[in-house]
Amino acid sequence: MDLNERIRILTEGAKYDVSCSSSGAGTGSKKGSLGNTAYCGICHSFTSDGRCVSLLKILLTNYCEYDCLYCVNRRSNDIPRARLSPRELCELVINFYRRNYIEGLFLSSSVEKSPNHTMEQLVLAVKMLREEYKFRGYIHLKAIPGADYGLIDYASAYADRMSLNIELPTERSLKLLAPQKKKDAIIEPMKMLSQSYFLTKTEKNSQIKKIPAGQTTQMIVGASNDTDGQIIRLTQALYRNFNLKRVYYSAYMPVNLSSSLLPALPCDLRREHRLYEADWLLRFYGFSAEELLPVERNLAADIDVKSFWALNNYQFFPVEINTASYEALLRVPGIGVKNAYRIIIARRHGKLTFESLKKMRVVLKRAQHFITVNGKFYGAYNNPVNIRKALAAQQERPRLETACLQTSLFDAERPLTDIITGEL
Ligand code: SF4
Repeated sequence: MDLNERIRILTEGAKYDVSCSSSGAGTGSKKGSLGNTAYCGICHSFTSDGRCVSLLKILLTNYCEYDCLYCVNRRSNDIPRARLSPRELCELVINFYRRNYIEGLFLSSSVEKSPNHTMEQLVLAVKMLREEYKFRGYIHLKAIPGADYGLIDYASAYADRMSLNIELPTERSLKLLAPQKKKDAIIEPMKMLSQSYFLTKTEKNSQIKKIPAGQTTQMIVGASNDTDGQIIRLTQALYRNFNLKRVYYSAYMPVNLSSSLLPALPCDLRREHRLYEADWLLRFYGFSAEELLPVERNLAADIDVKSFWALNNYQFFPVEINTASYEALLRVPGIGVKNAYRIIIARRHGKLTFESLKKMRVVLKRAQHFITVNGKFYGAYNNPVNIRKALAAQQERPRLETACLQTSLFDAERPLTDIITGEL
């Protein structure tokens, strides 16, 4: 099979993985090297559903020994299969990078032969890219669950970011839908990586920081019966215990022939969207998973998560803008981190009015129901039922046709091999 076709297969096979934000790395350029991950050297672009598209996102192989029910690359699927050698992968990355098509690499793989064999191939590829091709651009490397920890640790010296996908939030779902994957084979390497963001010595005895952009993971939402309450609690534990940079959520899409163990329809994209909102509240707004929702519940689809919390805790409101603490302001729907801070600063110079809030671009169509300004309430409703109706009417449904598409690097009619082997 020619290279062009193999690249097509392997990029197609990688597109369902969403854990690829490239933020956070700061490796600068260096004489005699190629590329850098410093802030202005890498552009991050995201599709409307939050997926990062600035990296060459590719599998090393889509031959797989495993048979995860939700996965297009599973062993029992009759699909075209391909692999790249580490050398072919390096040539591809370097040629794309030089032409400014990509800012970095997101390298993943199915499990060919065994987890250790696959991890060895991945290590070979990134080691070659760094040491032989002197590539200093961003590399996000997926670790293979079940591979020796030593191999995963070794790989982490060459990657800016690493990730192991949890895929399913409970062990019960993992057993049901991905029986060859074991919870410990995912969690234990994550734990190990969380302890290895430290300096390590290279063979040349110089010190480098391992995975400077940290680690991430991904969970599929809606493939199993697991609730948002369970997902958010797991997310919180991952941030607290393993210092994860990001947890990504991917709404389940049926890509295989139907199975009685899987839903026939795709997961509502609003669910994925709400989980990202809840994730944001955990990381930046001081909420805990336990406050956001009970373990057995899902988030509301019709209103955003902060409004959902505010309506369930209506006794907390209204909050007086001129006296409330920073923490209390952060709990008001429509007031973000920046505006809560601006309000605190602006109050030092005099009392704020409703007009002042407008000028600050507080989202008053939401906030008005939960605040007073100098004792005056500006909302149209003062009971949770009517407020919920008003808020639900304001919120847009994500556009399915946009959210399902991923931007492709390879839409051009020009054959890939021309691009790879052509002159600069
Ligand atoms: S291990 Fe499972 S999820 Fe990964 S490629 Fe193979 S079948 Fe898909």
